Amino acid sequence: MPCFSPLVDQSRPVRLLRSVLSSGHLPHAFLFTGIDGIGKKTAAMAFAMACNCARRQTEPGKDARGNCPADDGNSLGLGACGTCPSCKKIRSGNHPDILSVSASGAIIKVDQIRALCARLALKPYEARTRFAIIAEAHKLNAEAGNTLLKTLEEPPACTVFILTAPQASDLLPTIVSRCQHIRFQPLSPASLIAGIQAAHRLDADAAAVIAAMAGGSMTRAGTMARANWLGRRNWIIRELDALPHQSVNLSLAFSETLAKNRKWLKTAFDIMKNWLRDCVIYHYAPHRIINQDLTDQIRKTTQQTTVPDLLKKIRALEKAETAIESNANLRLTLDALVLALSKGS
Ligand SMILES: [Zn+2]
Repeated sequence: MPCFSPLVDQSRPVRLLRSVLSSGHLPHAFLFTGIDGIGKKTAAMAFAMACNCARRQTEPGKDARGNCPADDGNSLGLGACGTCPSCKKIRSGNHPDILSVSASGAIIKVDQIRALCARLALKPYEARTRFAIIAEAHKLNAEAGNTLLKTLEEPPACTVFILTAPQASDLLPTIVSRCQHIRFQPLSPASLIAGIQAAHRLDADAAAVIAAMAGGSMTRAGTMARANWLGRRNWIIRELDALPHQSVNLSLAFSETLAKNRKWLKTAFDIMKNWLRDCVIYHYAPHRIINQDLTDQIRKTTQQTTVPDLLKKIRALEKAETAIESNANLRLTLDALVLALSKGS
C-alpha cells in the first residue's frame, strides 16, 4: 500500500516538484535523498498522482475562487484531486503504470531491474506519464545498477524514474548525474511529536522523548512507539542506575541480558549514552535534557555521582561500542563494560 501520511517539513521539495509540474517539462529521472521516514515515498506517489490526475488544480491549494480548501491528505500541495479514477488507482496501489521496485532482503537484484526494464519497453496501459519508483536505490547491486544505467541512458517515452536513497554518494555517480536531485530534510521535533501523538496514545513528555531519539524520522518514531521503546528504556536506565549499588553477579546478569538481545544492543547503547549525557547536561542546562519525563530521576542520579565520573562512563560505553563493531568478543566486552559502569564516585 502506498503511504499517504501528510508530508510535513518538506516545503522545499514540494516547491521544486510544483515548479516542475507548472513548467510542463518532466525530467526522465529524479533522485530523492534523505533518511528513512521523512516522506520521500509519499512525495513520489503524490507526484505520480499529480502528473496523471484528470482534474489537477493548476494552482494547487486554491480553488476557483482563490480560497484554500482543506487538504484531503492526498494532494500534498501538488494539486492532484484525489478522487478521479487515476488518483484512486494510484492511491490504492492498483495503477498498472505505477511500477515499484524495492529490495528483497539486503539488495535489489539484477533480475528485478531486468523485469522492470522489460515492462518499460512496452507502451503504458493508460497513464499519461508512467512512473518507475525504485525505493532504497542504494541497495542496487553493481549488476543491477549498470542495467538500470543503460535504461536511464536511453529512457523510454512518457516514463519518469524516481529513485530514493539516504544520500547521493551511495549510488553510482553515473546514475546520479542522470537524475534531478531533490533533498528531503529530517522532520522537526514538533512535527514528530504531533505525528506520534496523533497515531499513538502517548502523553506529551513521552512523545517528546521518542521524538528526540528518532533522529528526525517518523518511521523510526512510529517503530519506537509500537515496540514499547519507553518500557525498554525505563528498564535499561533502572539497571544502569542500580549497577554501583549491587553485587557483581547481578551486574553480570545485566550484561548477559544485553548480549542475548543483540538486535537491541545499538538501541541499548544509545539509551545509556543519552541517559548519562542527560545527567551531565542537567548540571548546566536542565531544559536541554532528552529524557524530559524522567527529570526527578535524573535529579536523584546526579546527586549520587559527579560529572567526571559520568564522562568516564560515557567513554567506557563508546569504547565498548567500537570494540563490538570491530567484532570483539561480545560477552567479554559487555562484562567489562558493566563492571566499568558499576564503579561509583
Ligand atoms: Zn485526480
